Amino acid sequence: MKRYLSLLLAISIVFSCIFFMPQKSSAATADVRGFVTRVYQVVLDRNPDADGLNYWSNSLTSHSKTAADVVANFFFSQEYKAKNKDNTAYVNDLYRCLMGRNADTDGRNYWLNKIRMGVPRINILAEFVLSTEFTRICSNYGVTRGTINTQYSTSRYTGIYNYLDRMYSKIFGRNVDSAGINYFQSRILSGQMNGCQVAYHLIQSAECTRRTPDNRSYLNMLFDAIRDYTPSESTMNKWLTRMNIAQTREQVFAQFANNSDYLAVCNRYGIARGSYDAGRIVDPDRPMIALTFDDGPATGTDRILDVLQQYRQTATFFVVGTNASRYQSTIARMARLGCEVGNHTNSHPDLTRGSEAAMISEIDTCNNYIRMATGHNATVIRPPYGSYNAVLQRVAGMPIILWSVDTRDWATRSTASTVSSILNNARDGAIILMHDIHPSTVEAACQVIPQLVAMGYQLVTVSEMAMYRGGMAPGQVYRSIPK
Ligand code: ZN
Repeated sequence: MKRYLSLLLAISIVFSCIFFMPQKSSAATADVRGFVTRVYQVVLDRNPDADGLNYWSNSLTSHSKTAADVVANFFFSQEYKAKNKDNTAYVNDLYRCLMGRNADTDGRNYWLNKIRMGVPRINILAEFVLSTEFTRICSNYGVTRGTINTQYSTSRYTGIYNYLDRMYSKIFGRNVDSAGINYFQSRILSGQMNGCQVAYHLIQSAECTRRTPDNRSYLNMLFDAIRDYTPSESTMNKWLTRMNIAQTREQVFAQFANNSDYLAVCNRYGIARGSYDAGRIVDPDRPMIALTFDDGPATGTDRILDVLQQYRQTATFFVVGTNASRYQSTIARMARLGCEVGNHTNSHPDLTRGSEAAMISEIDTCNNYIRMATGHNATVIRPPYGSYNAVLQRVAGMPIILWSVDTRDWATRSTASTVSSILNNARDGAIILMHDIHPSTVEAACQVIPQLVAMGYQLVTVSEMAMYRGGMAPGQVYRSIPK
């Protein structure tokens, strides 16, 4: 105990010498020179050269530099860099220079942990500068303390670290490593990556794919990492069904990431969420309508495709072979946009009035033109005049699609009447009949597509609608496809 006390006494004497001795000096210049000398000795481990001592002392005396500027210059000098100090040595040096004492274990670990979290050395120095110890040392030497401006605050770095660590643990089942911090931190700080991009980068990686071999494990991971909750079994089943029917992992991810749950997660860590675009996604829980256009393609068809493309909607075009042969590129574009190309026969006869061979020939010839443009046959058929019989049902080889809403656009040739017919009869599951060979109908379609979207309808192809609602069978007749 006695030895301990004398040790304490010895330490306090040494400290008094370091801190308080210069105060006793009457000349302020001597104090400033003492401060600079001390920084040389502690940081660079040597006595100052005359030029250096004069330069830094004069800078402090003239107030062109603060004490914070001086220590920053020393800690980030080439001479200090060349010493290749590791993080522990750096923190020890900070303690000795700015707090005037050796680091205690807890304190050192606290700062080392911040460095491990990706906080730059300059930020650590900036925090030491603000300490009461350094403030006191500066006042003892009669120098202005000042502050160090850092590009980003320490809390910004730790926020990003905590966000990454959360994402890594939920997606990979492990802590974020230094490679991950290095990769993502700079990209998040520069705005090159937002929360959606970081999450997708992690989720589409091989490591995540290995951990989520099936849809259920993938959804469990997504709910935990992106939505931040554990789903009920019925919610899980809803998403499993979507994935089993059509939706890709990327599309499901997009719906999760764009949900406000993930916005809340990102906000917690100061991360900009952004949004994720996985293309057009059909939500089976929202109402759908199938717009259908017969007898084309024609000159106005591409205008309808323009609007569908702009609003990311689709429609079904029941083309006739005689026009299909002339508008091959329009049909190819329909397919590219996800629209459905249906068979409306080659020359538009009433199929029930001809032979079975004529019926087959009409269908096959039209299919040939569709196949030339798209690489495959039509997926659905609409017989001209909606006229069908048992023979057609037997030989069609595709679902036979009629309609629930007849706009009578061919008779009225009125844009206004076609638009109001559609809006008055719009309901979930409707199949709407129009003809894209009439300019009045093209105009009506261009007007009505944005309006239906604004009303909350998803414009889908007939087969898309059926896909989410139990499917269709070849030869069967469909007038609408309700839930
Ligand atoms: Zn027709």
